[in-house]
Amino acid sequence: MADKQAPDQVFRSGALKDPKLPRPGFPAQTQPFPGLASKMEPRPDHGEASYRGTGRLNGKRALITGGDSGIGAAAAIAFAREGADVAINYLPDEQQDADSVIAAIEAEGRKAIAIPGDITDEGFCASLVEQAVSALGGLDVLVNNAGRQQFCEDLTDLTTESFDATMKTNVYAPFWITRAALPHLENGASIIITSSVQAFSPSAILFDYAQSKAANVAFAQSLAKQLAPRGIRVNAVCPGPYWTALQVSGGQPTEKVEVHGKKEPLARPGQPVEIAPIYVLLASDEASYITGEYFGSVGGSGL
Ligand code: NAD
Ligand code: MG
Repeated sequence: MADKQAPDQVFRSGALKDPKLPRPGFPAQTQPFPGLASKMEPRPDHGEASYRGTGRLNGKRALITGGDSGIGAAAAIAFAREGADVAINYLPDEQQDADSVIAAIEAEGRKAIAIPGDITDEGFCASLVEQAVSALGGLDVLVNNAGRQQFCEDLTDLTTESFDATMKTNVYAPFWITRAALPHLENGASIIITSSVQAFSPSAILFDYAQSKAANVAFAQSLAKQLAPRGIRVNAVCPGPYWTALQVSGGQPTEKVEVHGKKEPLARPGQPVEIAPIYVLLASDEASYITGEYFGSVGGSGL
């Protein structure tokens, strides 16, 4: 089951120069937002065939937004292999990708909860948390990972609707979801937010997105201070160029998708599985002195 969606590049040696890792010179491709990982060429590697767990999250219960594909899917699969039960949220159009992640979690004998719905709706965000808590029997780890990135070359072409949708998805939703989750989180809980290298090095064509990702870093830094007395940790992850549906569904112009990651010293994009270990560490009890921080995985340029 889990293998059905596995990418062709199922073998990773772990070496930086593994020749099997996909490199720029990617086929031209574009999909309507939010895009499907299963329709990408090559398919992103979420760790389906390679991530090995060692029980670092045994018994934990996690909710991951955008858990159907890309970085969220890699975190969901890794969490399950580390012993966690996992609920994923995604948009209804992404059911196909979500099904394969649910199958991968279930293949580990863990509870997998699928909760489709649009997080730009405040009421849905509250209901998402309630559904996850009730199905999982509580909540220990919240990963605010869903994101919207739509490039726009000229500010005068950026509509209020598009700006608003970016802010609702990337800034309001993490606030709404976290506020709803807080009454359920106890000492030892972990909140993770997916920011971006864009928080520190904004691209000309990602004006709204870059601002939202800078807000995500402040989210972690502020909330970590507020929640430390309760024993709840909050951290941000700041990926660089990763090979995900976000990029091929309006995140970048097609000609940039073809060379995604080429400018980095590693000269390729990261595969989602390659960032999963950061999420695992931040979710685990091993990170008990790690809060209010941000962590990059950018391909060699650093944050
Ligand atoms: P992805 O497209 O695989 O995942 C993003 C997910 O966001 C989608 O799968 C979708 O389920 C979810 N989403 C978007 N709008 C939503 C809405 N209104 N309601 C519910 N869900 C919604 O791409 P990804 O790259 O894995 O993105 C995950 C996170 O990583 C995002 O926050 C993105 O900003 C961040 N990021 C990605 C990169 C990269 O290069 N891919 C770089 C830096 C940061
Ligand atoms: Mg998706």
